[in-house]
Amino acid sequence: MTIAVYCGSSAGNNSEYEQRTKDFGKFLALNNINVVYGGGRVGLMGVLADTVIEHGGKVCGVIPEKLKEKELEHTGITELRVVADMHERKATMAELSDAFVALPGGAGTLEEIFEVWTWAQLGFHNKPCALFNINGFYDKLIDMLETMSLEGFLKKEYVDMIINTDCEDKLLETLQKYQAPKHKW
Ligand code: AMP
Repeated sequence: MTIAVYCGSSAGNNSEYEQRTKDFGKFLALNNINVVYGGGRVGLMGVLADTVIEHGGKVCGVIPEKLKEKELEHTGITELRVVADMHERKATMAELSDAFVALPGGAGTLEEIFEVWTWAQLGFHNKPCALFNINGFYDKLIDMLETMSLEGFLKKEYVDMIINTDCEDKLLETLQKYQAPKHKW
């Protein structure tokens, strides 16, 4: 299985984010799950890539030419793909992966997981999307999604299709038995 992991180009200001990202990376490597990510070596992105490599796992980074300097491309990963722009990065990451998982991050992380989740709603793919909810980081976002649903802007089944857990074993089990809901159109 190959998982696209979206996460912050920052590490957050609570050391739990970094520690749990290391635990997560180790879990992926030990379970032979390949990682596709944004290719940087800063923030949680760098922590994740370093840990997976350290434990013998495979990591493919996908970075746009223009971001190579800002996000400091990781030179110690299995494969680094340099692409033209953000669109190509996201499309490549989506194509290479069987599932999508967001760890804590900022606007970029949110944009990336939301994009693949909206594609899932539209039936452009049938791959699972998950929030790895370290430290309850995504609780308020889930509340917002419930509000969207209650107010009639989002089907409940699309809220429910997002896997929300902070447990690695449960995440893997849920990803493996995931069945896509019926699509929007
Ligand atoms: P962030 O969560 O903002 O720290 O960013 C995490 C990753 O998302 C980084 O690799 C950013 O390059 C990427 N990113 C930032 N803005 C966007 C965007 N508008 N669309 C897609 N990815 C983005």
